[in-house]
Amino acid sequence: MDRIDVFWHQGMLNHDPGSGVFDSGLDPGFLDVLEKHPENPDRIKNMLSILKRGPICPHISWHTGRPALIPELITFHTQEYINELIEADRNGGKMLCAGTFLKPGSWDAAVLAAGTTISAMKHILDGHGNIAYALVRPPGHHAQPTQADGYCFLNNAGLAVQLALGSGCQKVVVIDIDVHYGNGTAEGFYKSNDVLTISLHMNHGSWGPSHPQSGSVDELGEEEGFGFNMNIPLPNGAGDRGYVHAMTELVVPAVQKFGADMIVLVIGQDSSAFDPNGRQCLTMEGYREIGRIVHNLAARQSGGRVLIVQEGGYHVTYSAYCLHATLEGVLNLPVPLLSDPIAYYPEDESFAVKVIESNKQHHKDNLPFLKGSLI
Ligand SMILES: [Zn+2]
Repeated sequence: MDRIDVFWHQGMLNHDPGSGVFDSGLDPGFLDVLEKHPENPDRIKNMLSILKRGPICPHISWHTGRPALIPELITFHTQEYINELIEADRNGGKMLCAGTFLKPGSWDAAVLAAGTTISAMKHILDGHGNIAYALVRPPGHHAQPTQADGYCFLNNAGLAVQLALGSGCQKVVVIDIDVHYGNGTAEGFYKSNDVLTISLHMNHGSWGPSHPQSGSVDELGEEEGFGFNMNIPLPNGAGDRGYVHAMTELVVPAVQKFGADMIVLVIGQDSSAFDPNGRQCLTMEGYREIGRIVHNLAARQSGGRVLIVQEGGYHVTYSAYCLHATLEGVLNLPVPLLSDPIAYYPEDESFAVKVIESNKQHHKDNLPFLKGSLI
């Protein structure tokens, strides 16, 4: 039976970013109920339990993660930045940027998330399995080489990519379907032609000094990396059909042309129909189909090898269900194992399809390796 090797460590639950008005950490003084920061342990507890007790459980094999070592962290981040985080932890914590709180326990959790993701990649590289999933928090894809951003401290996926490159992989593709731009991962490989970073995201633009990147189609990479960062900003409400259209029309042909020997699928369920942080309206069906597309792509490109890395996803129930559906797709299971308990979003794909066609034209004209190759 096909299986997914899931890497997890309980210590990652010890990161508690607190409560306030959504992710602000602020108490305005006039609300009786302050809510937990959206990136709270509950969301991950449900992801953990649905994989342990949901219908997918016979396909899951469990592995314990570990903390990353400092020399591993500086394969993606600068020593100065790591020192800054260690110092902040030693001083009892710090708000590093908007919504991003390093509290007591956060640094150890972040180091565990990084090491656990590295372990999951090593498991694949060592030939112990083809599909591994790093169930980690705090998330990582906004963390840049020199700064924290968007609830992220260390770039878990980026560190795994560096390990793959250092272990003989020639071409790695990162496909990021979190609802936000994977700016940290893009930044880390912006000058590299060994890594094709692809991000499908809400068209949210820059959101302050910690996130100077816009996520627009014009951010294409620099120097040797020019043409190897593909942004696919999607309109709000892109929905299942919009995402599947973007995957089949743009992502699949690009990855085939690039020729990846390792695929990293960066997932965030904040692109779901019920997420407080996103407006993209994917349902379980869409996630399942994206998983299936990636399965087929990996079968053709990377010998079936896929590392899946957890990022955002803030609806405590639906994120777990959408994760379940994504993994069903990556396993290419013939029939859905779990039905969707709440999806009813009346989606309209027409605008999304129009925008994706314009993205496609742009990338066809501007990414040298794609010129003339797309329909
Ligand atoms: Zn996100």
